Amino acid sequence: MKSLLRRALIVFLCEVMISLPLGDAAALPSNTADTAKLREYLQKPYVELFEIAPTLKFSAAEMDRQRKALEEGKKSCVANFKQHSKQYGKEIDQAQKELKDRTATLSDAQRKQSHCRIQNLQALKSEADVLAGHAIPTAYDNLAAKLEVIEKWPALYRQTREEISSGVYSKRRWGDVKDIGFREIASGQEDDIKRGQEAIEQMKRQGMMPPELQDKAIQDYVNTIAQQIARHSDLKVPLRITLLQSKEINAFALPGGYLFIERGLLEAADDESQLAGVLAHEMAHVTARHSNKLMKRATIASVFYQAAQIAAVVLTGGVAGIGLYYALQYGFYGLGLVLDLKLLGVSREYELEADQLGIQYAWNAGYDPSGFTRFFDKIAMREGYVNGVSWFRTHPPFYQRMVDAQREILFLPQKQDLVMQSSDFEKMKRALKPISEEAKKEEPNKPTLMKREEGCEPPPKLEYEPGQPIEKLCSSGARPASVDRR
Ligand SMILES: [Zn+2]
Repeated sequence: MKSLLRRALIVFLCEVMISLPLGDAAALPSNTADTAKLREYLQKPYVELFEIAPTLKFSAAEMDRQRKALEEGKKSCVANFKQHSKQYGKEIDQAQKELKDRTATLSDAQRKQSHCRIQNLQALKSEADVLAGHAIPTAYDNLAAKLEVIEKWPALYRQTREEISSGVYSKRRWGDVKDIGFREIASGQEDDIKRGQEAIEQMKRQGMMPPELQDKAIQDYVNTIAQQIARHSDLKVPLRITLLQSKEINAFALPGGYLFIERGLLEAADDESQLAGVLAHEMAHVTARHSNKLMKRATIASVFYQAAQIAAVVLTGGVAGIGLYYALQYGFYGLGLVLDLKLLGVSREYELEADQLGIQYAWNAGYDPSGFTRFFDKIAMREGYVNGVSWFRTHPPFYQRMVDAQREILFLPQKQDLVMQSSDFEKMKRALKPISEEAKKEEPNKPTLMKREEGCEPPPKLEYEPGQPIEKLCSSGARPASVDRR
């Protein structure tokens, strides 16, 4: 009964909000029939598009129209959520003024209600900021990249085949894949061990390291997979695996071979080759010593001083954006945010190198190398572009990343019986399920550092499911800060 009433209220309040004037921002461009048909293809995974692109017959004009529709869609969708954010900002000011004016006369219940309203408005505003500044542009960039695949891959595929038949492909950077493990990507990997240890100690001291995921069977499984890839890579330092109890879809390697895998990543992966692809990519950052190259002068201490500064701004509510969103969502367990990209060796150029080497390592260990592409795509389209995995924080050119990955896969010598799925992976997923459910139950009770008023009724959820076309999100209106207001 109670939930029915709540739903009725939500519907009512949504109607009220929809009727608010939003200006031009609310008007979304409508798709014509042919752009709609092409748009459907953009919802397909990259691996499928690579297969079917040469058979698709869209005219240059149609491609152009679609590109413009995407550009306009992105612009108006971003404007829509900027408008929401502005509106929430105004409501926050107004609510705070009201609170100040009436503070002497408020009852405890009224005061709590007012605090909850302000808190919820702040959450909605930061969510709108993240969507406008990060998630929506990322989603549209990914669609634009898929359009580019349809447009350019057929010619590039022909070129790739020619490069293979003429033999020039073997002259590419790290084309010596038969010598993996006996070649040197970057000398002195062992010099990074100390740096990695320092970083871990600092993270623990600052309370940034989530607790470990304590499940022997899952630990053993992930360790087995990772060591198997390590043995087939250019890694020259011992690999140490730690599973973290955190819902972030992330894995990261600290210099010197310390690989951290967050629970959210295990939840998001569909098969063993996807997991292998991510682990191999992270190992490649270590073998190529990317962090050492980016942190020539910076010290661990200065990196963590920066992290502490970000934390301070986030906690005082001083910054609107990805940081605040993380703080709200994770109670500051958003490692993807606080870890300096330099420490992880993440930059545009190095991402492409880690993609290439990672694909080689996964393949060499016997995995279907397209696992990496499929996982990347899944994250970009469905799970978590909103959750801003560190992979997306460099605003990488999606098209180049995916196309380079596909070319590398084609350049690798053919292998029989590449592994995509295993019964051990499925067993791991079954063991993970109750752990995830338990963690989800506990998460709302965890005190997040941003939450000052306890027990507030949260605002209604955004009516958008990951995996739906982004246009669905764009047409959603601003939401009320609380379901029981007035
Ligand atoms: Zn990377």
